Amino acid sequence: MSYETTIGLETHVQLATASKAFCADRNEFGAEPNRHVSEVSLGYPGTLPFLNERQVEFAIKLGLALGCRINRRSTFDRKNYFYADLPKGYQITQDDRPICVGGALPIRTDAATVRHVRLHHIHLEEDAGKSVHAPDESFSRVDLNRAGTPLLEVVTEPDLCSAEEVDAFMSGMRQLVRWLDISDGNMEEGSLRCDVNVSVRPRGQAAYGTRCEIKNMNSMRYARRAIAYEVDRQIALLEAGGEVQQQTRQFDPQSGTTSALRDKENAHDYRYFPDPDLPPVVVTEGYVSRLREDVGILPWEAYDQLTALGLDAEDAALIGEEKDRYLTFLRYAEHSPAVPELAKLWVNRVLPFAQGRELQLAPEQFVRLQELIADGKVSAANAASRLLTDLLEEPGDPVQRAEQLGLIQNTDTNYLREIARSVIADNPGKVTAYQKGKKGLLGFFMGQVMRKSGGSAEPTETQTLLRDMLEEKA
Ligand code: ADP
Ligand code: MG
Repeated sequence: MSYETTIGLETHVQLATASKAFCADRNEFGAEPNRHVSEVSLGYPGTLPFLNERQVEFAIKLGLALGCRINRRSTFDRKNYFYADLPKGYQITQDDRPICVGGALPIRTDAATVRHVRLHHIHLEEDAGKSVHAPDESFSRVDLNRAGTPLLEVVTEPDLCSAEEVDAFMSGMRQLVRWLDISDGNMEEGSLRCDVNVSVRPRGQAAYGTRCEIKNMNSMRYARRAIAYEVDRQIALLEAGGEVQQQTRQFDPQSGTTSALRDKENAHDYRYFPDPDLPPVVVTEGYVSRLREDVGILPWEAYDQLTALGLDAEDAALIGEEKDRYLTFLRYAEHSPAVPELAKLWVNRVLPFAQGRELQLAPEQFVRLQELIADGKVSAANAASRLLTDLLEEPGDPVQRAEQLGLIQNTDTNYLREIARSVIADNPGKVTAYQKGKKGLLGFFMGQVMRKSGGSAEPTETQTLLRDMLEEKA
């Protein structure tokens, strides 16, 4: 029997706010363990949380970008469970009244296809601390720096059907949160991670199969392997006449397998109830429209704009990857006589050079550079590899610089003919051979002309001239 896979994601985004979600502790990755732990982070009795406005702002920006409905009033709940890295004994989250509802993320699995992955909702919550289990120690350590880090949880509908789509979704989320400047989207550091819900069903069956949730994937490579394993496992179970149990599972990168952590817990296991310490979040129309203006152009709109300017899919994706990169390119493209060609120079030379450095070469100088190429004064290869490289390091006038570097190609027909004539006169034997059919000798003559001109002869012009002269049409 053939099966189809259904996947829904619960994505966690750590927000790049200065302080934590409900207290003034610094929100910083990589500090010494337990440095950013006030009484609130430690869950001392009698402490009170207060809301970080930035978290709300970031949530609404993401919601607006994804076309969600923004709830004017959302509320906080407590999700109760016991674990060493959760000193309060509960997580502050949003249960039945989240800040954003609906919406979709457009993903591109190939250049021609865009799919909209629908979202169920986005809610505000806080991260737990971290338990550290060192293999050579007989005890675990707890680091509470992360406890209380502001999170957004983005919950999709079960709209994805392969690991490739999960990859595209996570890349899209990463790009978007960086674009909006609300998170560094760094999966290795856990700023972006997801729980992957996977089920399979016989192709054509209307009802979804029973799902398993694989917890806390913070690497796309692992997620791919985990999904592949889980799909195979579930199909094998069904084929053997068994049933899939709804479970929470974990992936072990060592063995490449998933194993049961616990049977699926239900909402009532967490004894959700409204947090009495936090009033509802109420946002006004005016606040939301101000944020809407801040959001501006979105990555997929930028991509469409770049392809409309004539960029191929690869260049558009690279240049449109980051907002600063895209805006800088546009400033230069505005002046450019040939935008797709400029994009090639950009991808091959400017981006590898830039790497966070400020671009000093003015847009007008890029125009000159492109004119030099278009007029055949500098070969495209030389312009890219020598002239531009030099100008990026030390900005200046492209024409002067090309002259200094000896890159100006000679297109003066009289000059070229003169040289060609002397080369032909010096090599009568080769001329005869050419005329008898050894056309490959054209390369030899080209080489000679190049040498005599000190590399300045413009190749296209020279080749035409030489061919004409050798065939005695000249
Ligand atoms: P719960 O409230 O029990 O956690 P949700 O309805 O919130 O369940 O779903 C959690 C995630 O699981 C969502 O991303 C959703 O799209 C996904 N999901 C739900 N049903 C399935 C299924 N049958 N197969 C795959 N994913 C599913
Ligand atoms: Mg859920």
